[in-house]
Amino acid sequence: MKLYNTLNKKIEEFVPNEEGKVKMYTCGPTVYSFAHIGNLRTYIFEDILQKGLEYIGYDVTRCMNITDVGHLTSDSDTGEDKMEKGAKREGKTVYEIADFYTEAFLHDMDSLNIKRPSIISKASSNIDTYIKMITKMLDDSYAYISGGNVYFDISKAKDYYKLSGMDKDLMMVGVRDSVEGDDRKRNPGDFVLWFTISKFENHIMKWDSPWGVGYPGWHIECSGIASKYLGEYLDIHCGGVDNIFPHHTNEIAQSEAYFGHKWCNYWCHGAHLNDKNGKMSKSKGGILTVSKLMEEGYSPLDYRYFCLNSHYRNQLVFSKEGMDSAHNALNKLKSRISVINEDGSIDLVKYNFYNDKFIDAFSNDINTSLMLTVLYDLLKDSDVNGSTKIKLISDFDKVLSLSLFEKDNVDISSDLESYIKSKIDERNNAKKNKDFELADSIRNELLDKGVKLTDTRKGTIYEII
Ligand code: AMP
Ligand code: ZN
Repeated sequence: MKLYNTLNKKIEEFVPNEEGKVKMYTCGPTVYSFAHIGNLRTYIFEDILQKGLEYIGYDVTRCMNITDVGHLTSDSDTGEDKMEKGAKREGKTVYEIADFYTEAFLHDMDSLNIKRPSIISKASSNIDTYIKMITKMLDDSYAYISGGNVYFDISKAKDYYKLSGMDKDLMMVGVRDSVEGDDRKRNPGDFVLWFTISKFENHIMKWDSPWGVGYPGWHIECSGIASKYLGEYLDIHCGGVDNIFPHHTNEIAQSEAYFGHKWCNYWCHGAHLNDKNGKMSKSKGGILTVSKLMEEGYSPLDYRYFCLNSHYRNQLVFSKEGMDSAHNALNKLKSRISVINEDGSIDLVKYNFYNDKFIDAFSNDINTSLMLTVLYDLLKDSDVNGSTKIKLISDFDKVLSLSLFEKDNVDISSDLESYIKSKIDERNNAKKNKDFELADSIRNELLDKGVKLTDTRKGTIYEII
């Protein structure tokens, strides 16, 4: 298995700390609004990585945090708290906001066939762990107290800029904003481990600590949760490229200061999904979500297919044309698969030939488009019998997770199609005549038959569920 390691800026052979076992940590969402499809691109790549590793025989333990406290609107230590901002916007409490958007995020993951990490932990549930870590870092002089806050002293960290690979002076430009008005810091790049109320009086989520009532900084949550659930050695840590600096850089500094040794061997970062204005981002607004895609008539798995067609380390530009072709290609693929019949026993030679090709594509730094090509080559191969094809496709789908045998996207028979269309017309007429009871009963009648209707701007669309 070869993986690009951001830490060493090259593709490397993957060797876990313990044979056969992988400890994997992936940064979770900040739950102050819906995840956009850019965020979800990163989770799709992490899902393929986990499932691919499992496919080739590793036992993977994956842990993910939910950021419900401490992440400010700026990546440095300034700005409003994202959660409090979300609560103000929606007139709810921060706890309600966190619960609502956590549920929405998990639902999005399910709809994209992303396996839920075995450990999911909220930042606000691990305060004792952060306090323990910060106390040790203070004792060991990696941290200091200034003006009521606790800071990490980056000059004490070994090779602080190693992950980002950037010039120290250049990185200082990135922290210039935080330099202004924060003369409590010893070095401009120092970051907050613990905020106290002296600076953020109206903060709602706060806890008692040896340094005063306050709340943790954003970076300590991931170091804390990873160490609590996965121990002191990580094999793989993932996130989007925007996490490299400052978030992952600071995670390394804290964790290695706390443990006194190298913490994580492989750092894997997914490139961004861009829209025509650049990086899709929650703070910029105008984001696309899974439900918006569905309103446009796409299935979440069309988007998964769209992502798998490009390499995770290449930027991907979202376009309607790209989604249309993903939608059509996935439909066609499922139709082709649906007509394959079991016809005898599995041909092991052919099975191994294609399975090895599939594994090679995955092991070559997660080459998902090549994994799909192997699937298409298999479908074309008239020397492989139906039973062998079905076995291979269902095995590949353990990683690809495109629900290749499910009929939801498959073209349905013209009889059924005309029946559904006549029902949709009937319902539209009922709505026109303001007979909403009849309209609802038609919708429910179809739902009972496994046909889900969704009203979009372009009219009513249906989905076989
Ligand atoms: P957030 O909820 O903002 O903390 O981000 C959750 C995850 O999505 C992180 O791993 C980010 O690096 C990643 N991410 C943010 N924006 C994008 C984007 N436009 N494309 C891909 N991944 C992104
Ligand atoms: Zn993180």
